[in-house]
Amino acid sequence: MTQPPDSSTLHALLADLPAEIVTTDRDRVLGFVRDESRFTAHDSPLAVVTPRSTAEVAQVLRAAHRHGIGVVTRGAGSGLSGGANAVAGCVVLSTHRLDRILEIDTAERVLVTQPGVVTSDVRAAAAAEGLFYPPDPGSVAFSTIGGNVATNAGGMCCVKYGVTGDYVLGLEAVLADGRILRTGRRTAKGVAGYDLTRLLVGSEGTLAVITEVTLRLVPAPRAPRTVLATFPGLLQAGDAIATIASGAVVPSVFELLDRVTLRAIEEMEPSGFDDEIGAVLILQSDSASAAEDSDHLAQLCSAAGAVDVAVSEDAQEAHLLLQARRLALPALQARGDWLLDDVCVPRNRIVELLRRIEEVASAEQVTIGVFGHAGDGNMHPTVVFDEADETGAAAATRAFDRITGAALELGGTVTGEHGIGRLKAAWLGRELGDVARDVHRALKHAWDPTGVLNPGVMGLAPRPVRD
Ligand SMILES: Cc1cc2nc3c(=O)[nH]c(=O)nc-3n(C[C@H](O)[C@H](O)[C@H](O)COP(=O)(O)OP(=O)(O)OC[C@H]3O[C@@H](n4cnc5c(N)ncnc54)[C@H](O)[C@@H]3O)c2cc1C
Repeated sequence: MTQPPDSSTLHALLADLPAEIVTTDRDRVLGFVRDESRFTAHDSPLAVVTPRSTAEVAQVLRAAHRHGIGVVTRGAGSGLSGGANAVAGCVVLSTHRLDRILEIDTAERVLVTQPGVVTSDVRAAAAAEGLFYPPDPGSVAFSTIGGNVATNAGGMCCVKYGVTGDYVLGLEAVLADGRILRTGRRTAKGVAGYDLTRLLVGSEGTLAVITEVTLRLVPAPRAPRTVLATFPGLLQAGDAIATIASGAVVPSVFELLDRVTLRAIEEMEPSGFDDEIGAVLILQSDSASAAEDSDHLAQLCSAAGAVDVAVSEDAQEAHLLLQARRLALPALQARGDWLLDDVCVPRNRIVELLRRIEEVASAEQVTIGVFGHAGDGNMHPTVVFDEADETGAAAATRAFDRITGAALELGGTVTGEHGIGRLKAAWLGRELGDVARDVHRALKHAWDPTGVLNPGVMGLAPRPVRD
């Protein structure tokens, strides 16, 4: 385990690194102490380091390893689980200067990038070549590709196109002791050795620092047709979700917004959702048969009890709708204190999950906004409350725990895309069970024997080192 180092350790660290990549100025360091999560611990780092190359990342890790200093890797800090939160006396390694797209090979449909590149820039670079990088987290405009890989981020396209990990062919990463590792391939197929790429995807900075990402691109999709269906309540929308999810037509976007979330969006940026609407589904089809598919999806929504269903191929309208969907979290955040969940259940249990969320809201007397990736069963029930009111805050925490527990009972997972981080460290063991937890600890020990990488994240302490 790492300990908060004293000032002599800081001097030793500074002596090992180029001055231009180290910041100890308290005001500047403050901007790097936590991510976007709430109710997750964070503390004061010793310094922030901003390496400009893989060699400098290796230099930082060698120095941190030598002096027993924790290293918290940080992309944009948009994480929602406390994964990039600083611990006392650590070094925060920010990837924001590793910000170059290195190569686009249009023939092989491969893009190679440094980790600090913003996700939307990766997508734009692919689009400029007539290609498509599908993963589009709600934070696409500011999260980094390295953070996306380290959390295996999802997004709106994932219902059809899969998550970040489905596009990662290979990685370069720096190990805890400073050695540089290359994993994976850039060929269409490849099965040599253990799949270390998959292991690093979603490892939340606990196993290595990712310094280069080789991504698979796909041909650009057709212009989508969009369906907007409004429902009197969440449960009717849930019925539509269950029917569509088990049907033959796979939408390319399949998102849910409930009444509380719609009200919050309207307050932040009026989008035309009137007060009577209980829930909205936004669906898209970008297939060759988008016209037929979207009509079919519209019919299924009507049959499940939608009061209004509109189909459009207007690109501007679709863009505005998706923008409104992206406002869901910021709009709920603007309402007060909030606790955001990220549970994911099998799609045939979504209606049950929505019912359980309504029961929790009523039993705990709390407001819960529900939105999320309906087509994946990945919901973001968000408890909105006033932290100053102790009773309300306790009820919010209970509600959060009850919803997370309900997801496990329904055969789901405690996190569909935001990661375990610090927020859900206590839940990981419950989901994994003893054997899988042991394997996790053994892997952590093999990659990071002294536990310098992202201490505390996933609740993974490495096994003690034996001489
Ligand atoms: C408004 C909003 C909407 C969001 N919508 C979505 C969504 O739809 N889907 C989704 O999945 N997430 C979403 N998120 C969460 C967040 O944006 C993602 O988790 C994203 O992948 C984090 O990227 P980042 O660059 O901000 O990483 P950070 O928050 O900086 O770090 C996240 C984790 O990755 C590790 N890490 C970062 N870079 C590296 C690296 N180079 N090497 C090793 N480890 C590293 C960190 O240590 C940390 O554990 C949303 C967040 C916000 C604020």
